[in-house]
Amino acid sequence: ADTNEQGRAHGGLKDEDRIFTNLYGQADPFLKGALSRGVWYRTRDLVEKGSEWIIEEVTKSELRGRGGAGFPAGRKWSFMPKVSDGRPSYLVVNGDESEPGTCKDREVMRHDPHRLLEGCLLAGVAIRAKSAYIYIRGEFVNERKAVQKAVKEAYAAGYLGKNACGTGYDFDVHVHHGAGAYICGEETALLESLEGKQGKPRLKPPFPANAGLYGCPTTVTNVETVAVTPTILRRGPEWFAGFGRKNNSGTKLFCISGHVNKPCTVEEEMSIPLKELIERHAGGVRGGWDNLLAVIPGGSSVPLIPKHVCDEVLMDYDSLEAAKSGLGSAAVMVMDKSTDIVDAVARLAFFYKHESCGQCTPCREGAGWLFNILSRMKTGDCQVEEIDMMQEVAKQIEGHTICALGDAAARPVQGLVRHFRPELERRIKERVGQVRVAV
Ligand code: NAD
Ligand code: SF4
Repeated sequence: ADTNEQGRAHGGLKDEDRIFTNLYGQADPFLKGALSRGVWYRTRDLVEKGSEWIIEEVTKSELRGRGGAGFPAGRKWSFMPKVSDGRPSYLVVNGDESEPGTCKDREVMRHDPHRLLEGCLLAGVAIRAKSAYIYIRGEFVNERKAVQKAVKEAYAAGYLGKNACGTGYDFDVHVHHGAGAYICGEETALLESLEGKQGKPRLKPPFPANAGLYGCPTTVTNVETVAVTPTILRRGPEWFAGFGRKNNSGTKLFCISGHVNKPCTVEEEMSIPLKELIERHAGGVRGGWDNLLAVIPGGSSVPLIPKHVCDEVLMDYDSLEAAKSGLGSAAVMVMDKSTDIVDAVARLAFFYKHESCGQCTPCREGAGWLFNILSRMKTGDCQVEEIDMMQEVAKQIEGHTICALGDAAARPVQGLVRHFRPELERRIKERVGQVRVAV
């Protein structure tokens, strides 16, 4: 087996260490099947241990938010008020999974919705909330239906609602179906949308923990983060923290797509080498590893990395950050040598231009500029100086906007210029040559 920097052996996560044992829907997704998988097992005991115990255990497990930002989950939950000032606290579960390449929360909602609901109750108790809202991406119709069916079952079985699990704690879960806008996955845009307004991000601070849904203390947290919580509490934080390495612990859902032989979503140990992840679970790169051109390792909001970086990098926050990329939503998009890399990045630029909510000038105008320049660069129809100009536009967007969509629009371009400048220059030179011949 390969080893990571700390000498930990990899060899693939063992079946008994998987949390999502119905990831591909082999078994009944609903209550009967869920009970046979250990969901709702002695949940009452966990609820009765109370808020502080849950937060402590989650903190010790070193679980980091699985939506993309990787903020420590226990710390985020601890920001919620311990004593109410009269305002209710809310749990909002972000199921608006829309990051290109990302399809992990979808599998959880489709095939294991009770695991999510049990997580809602436990996370709700942790933050002293009596209600949870699950916000589901507009395009996820079947997933919404599956979650709604599971909610109905959980109420009928007494796991949710008044006196949830016989604990004396009242807890309601509401399902909200989005209308299909990428920006509504940004936590404050999601709150606006839940309140019935246009999904436009709010300025932070205040963070939702201080003023979230209807101005009340709110924790917005990702489906996967919530769904792994019951297992962490049952098996113990040390068990979870034992996977991966310090600051990068746990098991994780990875979505592998693009030019691989067997695209899949899989649960693996954090810090698994990227190469091993692709070869073990996705049948390898089409045409073999040497046919690899580049990978976007964490959804379209992180920069691409070229093959020589992919040879060594581990799938975790620290290793990918050191490689000037990021783990993001852990969506691994593989591009082989047949890829027109400029066209691929131009397509992402179009996506961000299209999805920008238009509130901030750098994002609204800059995303359009990036798309326009890249569209010309595909055929080399521009000046060499425009490579630096494009980079400057990306720099002017990054860090100058209300939400992370602006940064996300800038990053694919930064990765392209960092690693493929000679390719951009080649296209421009060849095009200039053609024009001269034509003249
Ligand atoms: P962020 O770093 O601003 O926030 C992360 C979380 O921590 C938020 O819930 C925020 O409220 C909380 N937080 C941060 N600092 C805090 C503080 N000082 N006090 C209280 N709470 C605090 O990042 P973000 O904008 O939430 O997420 C960006 C990431 O989302 C991107 O990098 C991308 O990887 C990912 N993303 C995922 C999807 C998807 O479909 N899963 C889609 C788009 C983007
Ligand atoms: Fe809207 Fe873009 Fe500004 Fe985010 S960065 S608030 S998407 S304009």
